[in-house]
Amino acid sequence: MIEKALNNQIAAEMYSSNLYLAMSMFFSSKDYDGMAAYMMEKSEEERGHALEFAAYMIKRMMNVELQAIDAPQIVFNDVLSTFVAALAHEQKVTAMINNIAHLAMEGGDNATMSFIKKFIDEQVEEEDEAFSYVQKLVKIQNDNGALCFFDHELGEKSGGKVNVELEI
Ligand code: MG
Repeated sequence: MIEKALNNQIAAEMYSSNLYLAMSMFFSSKDYDGMAAYMMEKSEEERGHALEFAAYMIKRMMNVELQAIDAPQIVFNDVLSTFVAALAHEQKVTAMINNIAHLAMEGGDNATMSFIKKFIDEQVEEEDEAFSYVQKLVKIQNDNGALCFFDHELGEKSGGKVNVELEI
């Protein structure tokens, strides 16, 4: 049961990676280079999470089964709704992580309880960050100057690096 939940988590982390990649491309198409860089960094981070889950399963002699990754379920309208979608997605991921913690506790699986702790903490940070951006964007509304400043801020946070591959 924990094996199935961990395999599902790998698929969920890969889906997160795809979702943030799609967001990065949307922002890039609107010339919001800072937000595009930020979402590209998040996409890479999520792929890293998937690999961490897989590495853990392999160490524990569990079978890693890669699943099909769904296409990102999102319709892009504007910056605010995209960040709201990112927050809603993180909340779903949190519920999945909590389910793994619950299964590990029920099954007396101490190793998985220890492993999953990092991700429980990670989700607190992810939700806090996404919520803080949503709050800022609600204040910004349609103020283009403020939106450009926000874009710059996210670019700085991502080391100011815009993925050159997306500039083609
Ligand atoms: Mg993750």
